[in-house]
Amino acid sequence: MSTIFKKIIDKEIPAKVVYEDDVCLAFRDVNPQAPTHVLVIPKKEMRSLNEVSTQDKELLGHMLLKCGEIARSLGVAESGYRVVINTNNDGGQTVFHLHFHLLAGRPMTWPPG
Ligand code: AMP
Repeated sequence: MSTIFKKIIDKEIPAKVVYEDDVCLAFRDVNPQAPTHVLVIPKKEMRSLNEVSTQDKELLGHMLLKCGEIARSLGVAESGYRVVINTNNDGGQTVFHLHFHLLAGRPMTWPPG
């Protein structure tokens, strides 16, 4: 079933896009949990990290590289950032289209809540 992120990919609903290429899209989270909060998503529909396969290795590596590039482009790479993938209920996932949260702009605590 299609998610709200698929609608963003298809430009059916707006998003504040910070990066886009053939295989992934990055946009500002609508309910930011840090001064910088960007979601990096694959254009391919995948529900969660549980659904990825070895065929997705290149895509996932690409998305991680983009997280670093986006952090640099937004000026938060040196101060630091956190990349999070919430998975299913205990992981706190609410949108079932795989996404990386890129959080920055304040000190993060550990362990996460
Ligand atoms: P998660 O809880 O890990 O599944 O994260 C889903 C994230 O999507 C949350 O941080 C939401 O604030 C965010 N979100 C939901 N709808 C939108 C939207 N239309 N545009 C941007 N971010 C969204």
